[in-house]
Amino acid sequence: MVQTPINLLDSEAKVVDLINVENRAWQTNMLDAVFNKEDSELIASLPISIRGDNDKLIWVNSCNGRFSVKSAYFLDTDLRRHPFGILARKQIVNDGSCPVCTKEVETILHVLWSCPAATDVWGEAISPVKKWHIAYEDFSVLWRDLSTRLEAEQLDQIAVVLYQLWKRRNRWVFDNKFQSPSIIYKHATDELEIFKQVGLLQKQQVADTGMQNQERVRVLWEPAGANCYNFNFDVAFDKNNNTIGIGGVLRDSRREAEIMLSAPRAHVPSVFHAECYALIRVMELCHDLRISNVIFEGDAKQVIDSINGQHVDCSWQRQLIEDIQFLLARQTTWRVRFVKREANHAAHATAQYGKFLISEAVWMEEGPSEIMSFVLSDKECIPF
Ligand SMILES: [Zn+2]
Repeated sequence: MVQTPINLLDSEAKVVDLINVENRAWQTNMLDAVFNKEDSELIASLPISIRGDNDKLIWVNSCNGRFSVKSAYFLDTDLRRHPFGILARKQIVNDGSCPVCTKEVETILHVLWSCPAATDVWGEAISPVKKWHIAYEDFSVLWRDLSTRLEAEQLDQIAVVLYQLWKRRNRWVFDNKFQSPSIIYKHATDELEIFKQVGLLQKQQVADTGMQNQERVRVLWEPAGANCYNFNFDVAFDKNNNTIGIGGVLRDSRREAEIMLSAPRAHVPSVFHAECYALIRVMELCHDLRISNVIFEGDAKQVIDSINGQHVDCSWQRQLIEDIQFLLARQTTWRVRFVKREANHAAHATAQYGKFLISEAVWMEEGPSEIMSFVLSDKECIPF
């Protein structure tokens, strides 16, 4: 939870106000001015979608950003462990009482179920639990009861209402705005509709990816054509200096190097992110130069598998993967595949070089000697 007081932006400010839309990068000067150092660095490490998605709220207590009973349960345990409540621990209020009714200690069960403000919401006409009025011992007991007594669809509805109740409580604490029970239910119904549509879309994407994979298998067995390229990409980390470089080498079908790219990269929270950034950058370069028939090759198996249809469960990682899939979908002659590290030395050299640069560098055919020696020795290497 970001706790820095907002002092430069008005209360209606959107995330986009902190982003340089042109190059899709965080405005780090702005972040430094608005947030404290810790928050600013945290925000700068969040990937920005290249598809210009709308702002979305992510439930921070679960890995995939979705409300889940397990994550609510952990929050509940967290609140219990700290008898003055999570807000008191973060020094936002000075006692642990419910910020809405101010009468009882704030536990997750209280916020989501027994607080009079929550009871009003559950009493709405379309609520499947409107006549329950049951006192539960803790949230997990409540959820067990809900799960045994309700249909799956009703349970979905309950889950989104729970999430809306939590959001309302936060809006009250941070923005001093409070929504009526009917508005809560309306938001919940809208959200449920979105979830359903996203579910349908994901099913469609899985089916489409299955077809793409079949095509990819065929591509592997086809001889590389005269205008076919390989773009190997990689990242290099220097833990001591906390510097990260990304890079790549584009070769033609004779394995001659055509383009080399090296760039430094700041605010990268994981190798997974760095590999994605490297791939996105070389894809953008190919897009700008209108290069088709490219096989992008990386040695991060998890990233390549995710792009080619494997499950990714962290929402930030998923956003990056979806960005890459979006770029791929635009170019039907592009493929992404895994290569062993031994076949990726030249790309690694470009990434190493990128660590020491101040800004990105791109070379045509002849790069710096630190890179060229690897490019030439890699030329003889068979990638499989
Ligand atoms: Zn209350």
